Amino acid sequence: MSHLILVSNDDGIEAEGLACLTRSLQGLGEVVVVAPARNHSGASHSLTLGRPLKVRRTAPGWFAVEGTPADCVNLGFFRLSGRPPDLVVSGINAGLNIGDDVAYSGTVAAALEGALLGRPGMAVSMDRASLGGDGWTAAGEVALLLARKILERGLPEDTLLNVNVPSGEPRGIRWTRQGRRIPHRPPEMGAGTAAVAAIGEEEFWISDLPLDWKNDPLSDYCAVSEGFISVTPLHLDLTHHRVLEELGGWQLSLE
Ligand SMILES: [Mg+2]
Repeated sequence: MSHLILVSNDDGIEAEGLACLTRSLQGLGEVVVVAPARNHSGASHSLTLGRPLKVRRTAPGWFAVEGTPADCVNLGFFRLSGRPPDLVVSGINAGLNIGDDVAYSGTVAAALEGALLGRPGMAVSMDRASLGGDGWTAAGEVALLLARKILERGLPEDTLLNVNVPSGEPRGIRWTRQGRRIPHRPPEMGAGTAAVAAIGEEEFWISDLPLDWKNDPLSDYCAVSEGFISVTPLHLDLTHHRVLEELGGWQLSLE
């Protein structure tokens, strides 16, 4: 039986990156696309509870869901793909998902949902500076290369790959670890603050402007800033195993 690949994203069903990713993976087997009807960037891994999820078939093998990226993969996996997929790929996101972004990213969460359901996952994101050029094509080629490799060799259990493609001609591919931003930027006051203040309200914008990064030559940030494609293996288990041992020394008793 040919491979079945479930594709999703967080930029929404009409995003250019989704079309490019789907085209790139077509040769590997059957591709089913289940994506949010609207942009859900920053949705992280939220699932929609307490209301039904509307699904609209927009083309053969394409489904738009009134929900989050994690909703899409969950529905795709159990209800819309016909059978469990061999691989879940998310993207191609318009904008990098490196370092701390991973905690907020809907693109990464879609791949993570695949891993939660027991299938290898891959999230692919591209530097915004490549938008408008042939960056999509370069990112699509990387997605194809890695998807083929995963289907051939598999991934360890509970693992996904977080792939980030820099702007310009990539110098190569580097295995990396998740970087850290320093410091986080406080939310900005909204321009309408004076007006809304009159009714006793304030408004703020959470900033997504670039910040400095902790200097780590092995990080995703460093690879991308030096022009390399970054591939970070992520896993589901957030337990900090080393610290678990350390904290085991605390005397905790309920008296
Ligand atoms: Mg996005």
